[in-house]
Amino acid sequence: MISDELGEVLAEKKASHKTTNTRWLTERIFPEDKAYLVDLNAPEYANIEPGQLKLVINLDQAFQPFFDRAVNVFVVGLIRNVLLAILLIALFYYTITKPLAVLANQFSKLHPERASDKRLSVSRRHEDTELGQLANAGNEFIEMVQLLLKDKKESHRALEQSEMRLNQLIDQVPQLIVALNEYGDILFCNQRFADFYERRPGDVAGMALRQVHLLHDQIDTLELAIHNVRVNGSQAEMREYIWSKPDGEAHYFSAQIAPFEHFNDPAILVVATDISEQKLVQDHISHMANHDTLTGLPNRALLNDRLEQSLATCKRTGEYNALLFIDLDHFKTINDSLGHGVGDLLLKKVSNILSSQVRGNDTVARLGGDEFVILMQSFDEDQGAVVNDVESICNKLLTSLSEPIAVKQHQLRIGASIGVVIFPMAEKSIDDLMRFADTAMYHAKENGRNGFAFYHQAMSLAVEKQRNMEIQLHHALQNEEFKVHYQPLVDLNGHICGFEALIRWQHPTKGTISPVEFIPSLEISGLIIPVSDWLIDHCCHQIVKWREDGFWQEGWYLSINISPQQFYQENMMLSLQRRVDKYGIALSDLCLEITETVAVENIEFAVNRLEKLRSLGATIALDDFGTGYSSLSYLKDLPIDIVKIDRAFVQELGTKSKAESIVEAVALIAKAYDLKIVAEGIETPEQMKYANEIGCHIFQGFYIERPVAENCLKANYSLGETEKSELSSL
Ligand code: C2E
Ligand code: CA
Ligand code: CA
Repeated sequence: MISDELGEVLAEKKASHKTTNTRWLTERIFPEDKAYLVDLNAPEYANIEPGQLKLVINLDQAFQPFFDRAVNVFVVGLIRNVLLAILLIALFYYTITKPLAVLANQFSKLHPERASDKRLSVSRRHEDTELGQLANAGNEFIEMVQLLLKDKKESHRALEQSEMRLNQLIDQVPQLIVALNEYGDILFCNQRFADFYERRPGDVAGMALRQVHLLHDQIDTLELAIHNVRVNGSQAEMREYIWSKPDGEAHYFSAQIAPFEHFNDPAILVVATDISEQKLVQDHISHMANHDTLTGLPNRALLNDRLEQSLATCKRTGEYNALLFIDLDHFKTINDSLGHGVGDLLLKKVSNILSSQVRGNDTVARLGGDEFVILMQSFDEDQGAVVNDVESICNKLLTSLSEPIAVKQHQLRIGASIGVVIFPMAEKSIDDLMRFADTAMYHAKENGRNGFAFYHQAMSLAVEKQRNMEIQLHHALQNEEFKVHYQPLVDLNGHICGFEALIRWQHPTKGTISPVEFIPSLEISGLIIPVSDWLIDHCCHQIVKWREDGFWQEGWYLSINISPQQFYQENMMLSLQRRVDKYGIALSDLCLEITETVAVENIEFAVNRLEKLRSLGATIALDDFGTGYSSLSYLKDLPIDIVKIDRAFVQELGTKSKAESIVEAVALIAKAYDLKIVAEGIETPEQMKYANEIGCHIFQGFYIERPVAENCLKANYSLGETEKSELSSL
């Protein structure tokens, strides 16, 4: 379009054209056609406004070829690219994907634990490529994994082994081991623990302790201890508590209870040691510490304990109790003569006898040797009643102890002496009480055995006296204060048959002391043995001297009094024989006098010993006959040569008394058994006459001669004319 300066259209031309198929696109991009205005300048009209040329371009038409070409280019490019892509894919597939798939397949089939498996491999062509590297890296990785697995396996096996060893170890230890979780259920236990309950370790796992431990003896205590350990977090120990087996067999345990971690969970470990045997030993030891091993009776320690308690109770309640001190009368002789075996058995029997005679709450204790103590708990506030009670018990005890006791083949007679103290006594300790009871026992013994005595103060003085006496007797032996006097034994015509040796104590200040005063003390103290030995030595020596002096006539004998202890002494025979041999005399020079009481104490032993003595040549006399058991049957059993009728009987002669008829009977029997009869204590010619009339052969007494020193004896006691006429006039 051309327009003038006024805008008047001068010419206009429009090209007609068809719309293109790309018009939608062109419209999108250029919604409007493009218009160009050009000023129409002419130099000759330079001073006027120019006209204008307007050109409008149809963009649809204008872009049509461009679009057409663009489509062409696009389609061709697309096809080329698709082809290229297919090519590339194929190439890619063959060079990468396929080998990768092979690798992946190999990889997926790989089992790292099978070391023998083929490794990742690629074709030779790929070996140097990244695939090859990948395969190599993969193989290295697998090797590493295999190594790790192997390592892990090995350490697992090692762990298993060590666990197994640990389990074996735990099963081996003598303790019961059990681990509990926080609810008290069993996590694990060792074989011993399971065995204890007659189960298997696997079976008890998961069970509560109470389910396993059916007898709930001390389970509460254990559970409490476990609870405390759990709360406090520190370990604890339980000593001496009882766990029972399912069959009820009780065992003593001591247990360590400690907290520990079981796979990060809090748990409790109980390690229990069976101390039943230890306990048994301990109990035994403590029993031994408090009991006498031989008899099983409480010993001094336990007695002291009980006595202390009893004394305290009495002081509090006002009751009276009693302490009995018992000493067997002839134990020492039995022990010495028959040996300790018999002695021990006898003590056991005695302990049974004592125990059987007292009440359950009384204590029978043995202090050692043949000393027993009974602590009698009367629970009585009446002292008189207690005394009566004790008296009857003492009588019972003495009666049963005086019965013959059978030990092995022996029938032993012992008897006992009992000292009693009733307590409490003001301010007196248990030591005082024991001493007093002992004192009373001594007193009972002195009062002629087989009796009992209640303690009173005066006794202490007597005991003091006895102790002093013992000390002095010791000195006497050392300082040779003992002397021997001899009393002749003669026949009817006054001819000497022998002498009796009678001991005297020449006291430095008190003068001559009679044996009746000190022999009991010698016996009680045991000094009788050394003193008797001294006496035998002395007598043997005397015979030698008399022989040398020409005084001693063959056929005479020297009579020696043998004390009970001496007779039952184990080595009596040997000791006697040695002494006799030492002085070069014969046993036939001696007559041994034993009393009836000594002989019947243990008749079998006595018979045996006497037979031996006789076979060695000694003459045996039964002394003081009639004062002891007076059982004439003994005369038949005992191997003796002489019966010495006690002077108490002799002095009854001529009085028409019972004693006289006894003597007559004895004389008859003695005659029947072919025994010589000695009448002791002849003081008058009448006694001698009567003694002769009833059949006595030998006479001893002041009427003939008092016991005198060895140098005062006459060689012949042929009775003088006066004596003879005295005798005949009777
Ligand atoms: P025994 O064995 O019965 O001794 C006889 C005692 O009677 C002696 O007393 C003696 O002196 C005394 N006697 C002798 N004739 C008469 C008499 O006509 N009238 C009176 N009234 N008495 C007479 P002795 O010496 O005092 O001895 C007493 C007891 O001591 C002895 O009694 C004896 O059992 C014991 N005895 C003496 N010496 C020993 C000894 O060496 N060893 C032992 N174990 N005991 C002895
Ligand atoms: Ca005598
Ligand atoms: Ca006598």
